[in-house]
Amino acid sequence: MQRRGDEPRALTSEPALRVIMRRLREIMSQPGDGQERLNKIVKQIAGVMVAEVCSIYLKRQDGSLELFASEGLNPDAVHVVRMKRGEGLVGRCAELNITVNEPEASSHPSFSYRPETGEEIYHSLLAVPIARSGQVLGVLVVQNRTQKEYSDEDVEVLQATAMVVAEHLVSGAVAGAGTAIEIERSLSTVIQGERMAEGIALGHVVLHEPRIVVTHLMAEDPEAELLRLETAIASLRASLDEMFDHEHLSAAGEHRDVLEAYRMFAHDKGWERRLREAVDGGLTAEAAVERVQNSIRARMLRQNDAYWRERQRDLDDLSDRLLRILAGRITSADEPSALPPDTILVARTMGPAELLDYDRRRLRGLIVEDGSGQSHVAIVAKALGIAAVGQARGIVERVSAGDAAIVDAMSGQVHLRPSSDVIAAYSDKVRFLARRQRQYRALRDVPAVTRDGVKVNLNINAGLLVDMPHLKDAGADGVGLFRTELLFMLSNSLPKVERQADSYRAILARADGRPVVFRTLDIGGDKVLHYLRQPKEENPAMGWRAVRMGLDRPALLRTQVRALLRAAAGQELRIMIPMVSSAAEMDAVHALISKEREILMQRGHELPEKLLVGAMIEVPCLLFELDELMPRVDFVSVGSNDMMQFLFAADRTNARVGSRFDPLTPAPLRALKMLAQTTQKHGVPLTLCGEMAGRPIEAMALIALGFRSLSMAPASIGPVKSMILSLDTTRVSKLVDELVVAGVQNIREHLDTFAKSEGVDV
Ligand code: PEP
Ligand code: MG
Repeated sequence: MQRRGDEPRALTSEPALRVIMRRLREIMSQPGDGQERLNKIVKQIAGVMVAEVCSIYLKRQDGSLELFASEGLNPDAVHVVRMKRGEGLVGRCAELNITVNEPEASSHPSFSYRPETGEEIYHSLLAVPIARSGQVLGVLVVQNRTQKEYSDEDVEVLQATAMVVAEHLVSGAVAGAGTAIEIERSLSTVIQGERMAEGIALGHVVLHEPRIVVTHLMAEDPEAELLRLETAIASLRASLDEMFDHEHLSAAGEHRDVLEAYRMFAHDKGWERRLREAVDGGLTAEAAVERVQNSIRARMLRQNDAYWRERQRDLDDLSDRLLRILAGRITSADEPSALPPDTILVARTMGPAELLDYDRRRLRGLIVEDGSGQSHVAIVAKALGIAAVGQARGIVERVSAGDAAIVDAMSGQVHLRPSSDVIAAYSDKVRFLARRQRQYRALRDVPAVTRDGVKVNLNINAGLLVDMPHLKDAGADGVGLFRTELLFMLSNSLPKVERQADSYRAILARADGRPVVFRTLDIGGDKVLHYLRQPKEENPAMGWRAVRMGLDRPALLRTQVRALLRAAAGQELRIMIPMVSSAAEMDAVHALISKEREILMQRGHELPEKLLVGAMIEVPCLLFELDELMPRVDFVSVGSNDMMQFLFAADRTNARVGSRFDPLTPAPLRALKMLAQTTQKHGVPLTLCGEMAGRPIEAMALIALGFRSLSMAPASIGPVKSMILSLDTTRVSKLVDELVVAGVQNIREHLDTFAKSEGVDV
């Protein structure tokens, strides 16, 4: 087999990339229609790359690839041969948006033989996607008789040519090409994605930092180009520094880390060197940015790991910023670009700091092609109250800026260019929701007391500093669950004591005297810290997580406890331990906390004025050790999300079984009733902070069982309070008691009927 570099080049004195760029420019400046130009391009490429075959395949509306031009294959096959979506190596290249470099193409499992092309005599094949803004328009292929692996330089030449071809196609010059995109972009479409942040939004599409289209590829004056590149890099670094120091971001401690990652990348010497080399090779600064981005991305994509995916986002973001600077279109955090008042932001990928770049007042919805409910941007979208849908496959390909769109983050659907009927239906829904929200806001300062005078404590669940204003806005009594792991998830390294203490202090300050229950780190399951080595587990939800990890790695838990104790100096501190499985574990936790208190005392630090330590009831076996647990805790809180998944043995993240079992059935209600009675007997305060607390009908059942404190998403406080104000606890307790004792299966229906007949607002 011939290896790279063995074959003589047609022109060795000048880099092939430069030669091809010059030739392509000549072709583009000469008269001729689009097809003629494609024919000339394939001929030139074949010549420069010493390839027997060079072909262009373009995507049709149905996703198939049509042979549009070829040098070397049977001319009769042009416009006749079509590869089905994903068929053959060419289809694979288009479908996965990857470069295919095969010394012996016919032995590849994906190879598809087409006798009409006469290609059986060619062995090696190099295929690169013809893509623009991540959207694959076709495939550019070269083939040779010899068995050889194409060199990096060959790949580079072909990729650069593919960029030129893509521009040519998008300009509409090639008749019959691009129809797939155009037709699709005028029809109304529904895309099923996944909910990232609840809500419904109607508005108009703004493409997240629309990609600067690089049209000018070949530099006229390489030295001047290098200067442009250097100036742009310096400006990029300066703008990141400015953004980093921007007041509202520096206040939000957790976002600083995300920006730090960008900053580190922007200062990366390797990245800068590669950009310079590409400009030295004859590319414009813009083309260099795109080339380097594509080649680093191809390498990162091979690393199938969350850390590298995040770094890839950093790279994409930085490259886009650099392109905007080169095009003179830089925006900064101070000057949000002019957005329509009903912006629906559409992005291929987005980091949390990028979302914060936008003017919140104009944002209605967010659609991200690769986002998920657990992603960092989802956390920020929730905190900002923006309806967001992720996993919206192909969205960027299918929208144009200014298109009407509806984000239905209740069902995870995105309606593009919706019909007037759909718009009318959703407008009604939104008006209804807004009216309800106004009614709930009016209840903000009304205490949550039932008709028969029972006060119910309503708290919010939080996890970021940006959640804290909700405490007052919702009129909540406190933070019943502060998920501290979110701070850790948004950080790029394990936050040190001081960093953590600063964050906790800021949270306590924003709580303004209302109690905050800090839950210690609950990592494991679906929550991963890339900088912490965690073993791969078969069942991570039941694995080495939360307090189990905390006790095995005491340094981690001790650091957090120390930071909490210091942050709450002179105040009340509430610490809650997740995933406690036995009363004895609380002894170990108390020992650890006492040790930290002693150390701080010895060092002369002021301690919290009062310390309350509680346990989450999530592991079912703890239900059978309550009498031992109660003397060891100051409070308990039911993590019903986990408790239900373990009681029913139904994975909460698995859509098939996650909502298969109803908590409003006898078994879980009996468990909760027993818990309420036992805590009452011991005089230990009880809360429930899982999702069920925020659903009015479930909350009604919990109050019936004896719960007097609930913690939920801030948006649920209004609906739950409204239910409480219209409820008579004596009557509902009697009903639920009877239903649970009798083992009635459809308790939910009975509760619905009760609410209707009693006028309870559920
Ligand atoms: C729960 O399990 O109910 C809970 C509140 O914790 P998390 O959802 O963070 O696991
Ligand atoms: Mg939990």
